[in-house]
Amino acid sequence: MAKYKRILLKLSGESLMGSQNYGIDAQRLAEYAEQIKEVSQMGVQIGIVIGGGNIFRGLSGAAKGFDRVKGDQMGMCATVINSLALSSALNAIGVKTKVLTAIRMEPIGEFYSKWKAIEALEDGYVCIFSAGTGNPYFTTDTGSSLRGIEIEADVMLKGTRVDGIYTADPEKDPAATKFSEITYDEIYNRGLKVMDLTATTMCKENNLPIYVFNMDIVGNLRRVMDGEEIGTLVHN
Ligand code: UDP
Repeated sequence: MAKYKRILLKLSGESLMGSQNYGIDAQRLAEYAEQIKEVSQMGVQIGIVIGGGNIFRGLSGAAKGFDRVKGDQMGMCATVINSLALSSALNAIGVKTKVLTAIRMEPIGEFYSKWKAIEALEDGYVCIFSAGTGNPYFTTDTGSSLRGIEIEADVMLKGTRVDGIYTADPEKDPAATKFSEITYDEIYNRGLKVMDLTATTMCKENNLPIYVFNMDIVGNLRRVMDGEEIGTLVHN
């Protein structure tokens, strides 16, 4: 039996680049799709939010002179591009998907509502929630905490390229050690960068645990579902 019945999986847009420095790496996309299929076949209900940083970020756009709101809207469109890519990769291996968008853009996706999402999840569709929250000045981290809370997910799984939360950035500090679990308050107190603070606070206030793990290792999503302790659990 899978450890969780309904999950919200957050994937970073950056991870989709694989070894490239822009855009979508076909191999990484296919690996993500296979991992998601494996867990879907275990009967887990899966909602996904995917970032857009591999294509466009509002803040870096603003630094180049774009209007911030338009830049953020460009970023939200980038998440839609990634969502369509993931949806297509899943369909190609026989997984039913529904792309729900936070901004109306039929026929690219259906306009999001909590009830539409839950019905689709219960019918076995993998739901991809795109365009973040639909609002500028937010991120897909906030989008995933919002959707995770709305669909009453058991956990938000944050798939990253590191295997959990460390006392310091393990890519910079070799002495950094990993937490197997940590509270939201400790994240604030230690100033750890796990998700943006708005997203972390939403999870804290609504009791949505976060599990941070390395999604770039094939098989890890199933390992989390099997209850293997490969990452870091964040809770109240
Ligand atoms: N974005 C937004 N509102 C949202 C979600 C995303 O404006 O609710 C925009 C924002 O510009 C962000 C970009 O979409 O930079 C890509 O999202 P992601 O969360 O990947 O951004 P990152 O955290 O990598 O900057």
